Amino acid sequence: MALMLNGMGVSRGVSIGDVYILRRNQHEYIEQKIEKRNLGKEVKRYKKAHSTARKNLLKIRKDIPKESPDDVSTFIETHLLMLDDAMMATSPIDIIKENQCNAEWALKLQRDAIVKVFESMDDPYIATRQDDVKHVFNHIMDALVLKGKTRIGEKQEKWKDRIIIADDLTPADTMIMQHSGVAGFVTEMGGPLSHTAILARSLNLPAVVGLHDARQYLKPGEPLVIDGESGLVLAEPDETLIDHFHKRQRDIRRKFKELSKLNDARSRAKSGEKITLLANMEVEEDLKQLRRVKAAGVGLYRTEFLYLKDNKIPDEEEHYKTYVKVVRALKGQPLTIRTVDLGADKEIDAVSSGPLAHNPAMGLRGIRLCLNDPSILVPQLRAILRASAKGPIKIMFPMLTTVPELLQAKHLLETTKESLRVKGYKFDEKIQVGGMIEVPAAAISANHFAEHLDFLSIGTNDLIQYTLAIDRIDDQVNYLYDPLNPAVLSLIKMVIDAGVKHKIPVTMCGEMAGNPNYTRLLLGLGLREFSMPPNSILEIKNVLRQTRLSNVRRPALGFLHCTDKEKQTLLLEKINS
Ligand code: PEP
Ligand code: MG
Repeated sequence: MALMLNGMGVSRGVSIGDVYILRRNQHEYIEQKIEKRNLGKEVKRYKKAHSTARKNLLKIRKDIPKESPDDVSTFIETHLLMLDDAMMATSPIDIIKENQCNAEWALKLQRDAIVKVFESMDDPYIATRQDDVKHVFNHIMDALVLKGKTRIGEKQEKWKDRIIIADDLTPADTMIMQHSGVAGFVTEMGGPLSHTAILARSLNLPAVVGLHDARQYLKPGEPLVIDGESGLVLAEPDETLIDHFHKRQRDIRRKFKELSKLNDARSRAKSGEKITLLANMEVEEDLKQLRRVKAAGVGLYRTEFLYLKDNKIPDEEEHYKTYVKVVRALKGQPLTIRTVDLGADKEIDAVSSGPLAHNPAMGLRGIRLCLNDPSILVPQLRAILRASAKGPIKIMFPMLTTVPELLQAKHLLETTKESLRVKGYKFDEKIQVGGMIEVPAAAISANHFAEHLDFLSIGTNDLIQYTLAIDRIDDQVNYLYDPLNPAVLSLIKMVIDAGVKHKIPVTMCGEMAGNPNYTRLLLGLGLREFSMPPNSILEIKNVLRQTRLSNVRRPALGFLHCTDKEKQTLLLEKINS
């Protein structure tokens, strides 16, 4: 009989495939053969990881509170001694060379061998020390992988058409999975606004998140169905159920085919007003889709994925080549490039919030990180400016909180322009500069920001997270994530009004903009530019083409004072009817 489980559907579509369980916490690694000429590099990687593990342990030792018992520091000392012992410092290097294998695999072989020795000890005390050994090995393993988050390795042939079940996935993992041809994924943690979920939607990868203990209930290799809309997960479905879900897959395809008739339809409200529908893009693959649905351009290019894909900071040329390619593909339509928004759930080894960041979403993220270390931002700004000579490009700064921060970023842009002028590079001297309004302080000060900007863009994913004080990737507080909360809607309205007052466009590029349930409400609040995942554009166009703006203004204002959930639902039904 089928086992039915329920998580949160975050990326639409039905997938049918066999279960593949990813046990990331146990450092699942595959053996990779390393060519002889690359062994030196692999040894270097190991040495670097070993030294990072050492640094991390020293930092832990330094941070031990003074009042802690002596045992605590003795414990760390022991770990440091173990780390420096040949069994961890040099033996794995010998294994890399002898077996011509990757560092993770060598470390795993060495750990298994040592743990076996400890297990065979008669002395129960010594036998229990194997936990210490495992911990120290894990420190090195963590340093070898993405900041303690397991990098799931290169393209994995065995994942093709499988449904991956994991505790959690980083956005970088999700990209690797898509390239490996997985059918979908289920995670035990995570929420609908995590960048992993956003990426899954953009890649059209059906996904269910927040299914606690999924790895306990599901068995490797068993057939599974997931519905990325309802969040339903069905193990061992019988023939009738499989037929039912095949039919659902066909219905979804039919619905999209029907909507595709709107590809060439004008993006105007029924009452005639022009509404701009732009696309969000994360990866180059999005270009194909956004061209197919005839998006009016790119309203948000999340450039972090250029960093995440190779876990490194791209150099100016790499940025430049990518932007030129994208702007050329857009054939005259605008490309809004958001400067890198690393931090929180988007980290690479070279740039992370650091061990002190207990609250990375509120830490050194987005523009803060770039202003703290302009060497991250300047090559990107140079590349964006240079690419602006090839087509219409706009710059957008993320995570702005204060006006001085914006002025500092603009100053950096001006000095970058000057350095390009000196070298004779061509660029758009009047390149438009916009700011993302995603922190409540910025929304409240939208009028002040508008004085210095050519456009504003409302990032509702973060605006909601920060207004309601709920971590967007924490499934335990997902139930509080509410775009209809009057505080959120009032902030959105303030930003739209600031745009009107200062005669600059306001776009919304958070996920709310791509949800057809909210289209009329947002039109009623005065929004005229929407940017969203390409696969939502036709649905939104469908709604706005059936909307008379004069009919939605007054009902939309009613939401600003409505705190009652049931009444909100009624208001929503009414405005959408
Ligand atoms: C947002 O916060 O709404 C947004 C569009 O940016 P991101 O989701 O990348 O944080
Ligand atoms: Mg954001």
